[in-house]
Amino acid sequence: MKSEIEKSLITLLKGVQHFDNEVFVEHKELFEKLASSQSPSTLFITCSDSRINPSMITQTEPGELFIVRNVGNIVPPYGEMLGGVSSAIEYAVLALKVQHVVVCGHSNCGAMNALCDLSSPKFDTMPTVRRWLRNAEAARATLGPLEAKDMGPETVRELAEQNVLLQLAHLRTHPAVVGALSRGELALQGWFYEIGTGQIVILDEQTRKTRSVDEALAELHAEA
Ligand SMILES: [Zn+2]
Repeated sequence: MKSEIEKSLITLLKGVQHFDNEVFVEHKELFEKLASSQSPSTLFITCSDSRINPSMITQTEPGELFIVRNVGNIVPPYGEMLGGVSSAIEYAVLALKVQHVVVCGHSNCGAMNALCDLSSPKFDTMPTVRRWLRNAEAARATLGPLEAKDMGPETVRELAEQNVLLQLAHLRTHPAVVGALSRGELALQGWFYEIGTGQIVILDEQTRKTRSVDEALAELHAEA
């Protein structure tokens, strides 16, 4: 009898085997081209949530997105927590010279739910999560006093959107970002991804309103 751990490991390894034998072979030329360098256009910051597949939702190939993922798609303000996120931002902007930074939040985000419940004893055993989510505390404040019982899908969505806007503001505290923005070499964008419908909307930092991808493309006079 195989244990659940063994079964899930087998699934994982079979996936790798399929990649090696089929998928890699199909895309061999792309991987050979990418073997010696990368030149991604976009730094994509999103939640670790297993239901988000950045390459699938943007229909990009390996080499196009430089990806940072963490609980709650958070960017700690510069100097607060110098670590993985700040290093990735600095490297993406200064060394890889990405042209875009996208912060992408999502529906049904566990981190957003947790934000309204951080003082609960259930987080006593997760001090790191509790501390990390403090970086999103100001997003919660924009929605007024909230408790765990208020967290329906609409509130989670609103909080996730406010969190994206907050993390965009945090991005602007990073010297590499400020420098590239002032030289006109970088653009920031906030997205919200609805898992159940596959819809992505773009959040406007100035108006704090959302617009559809179709609207954004029309503004850019992009061909359909
Ligand atoms: Zn999430």
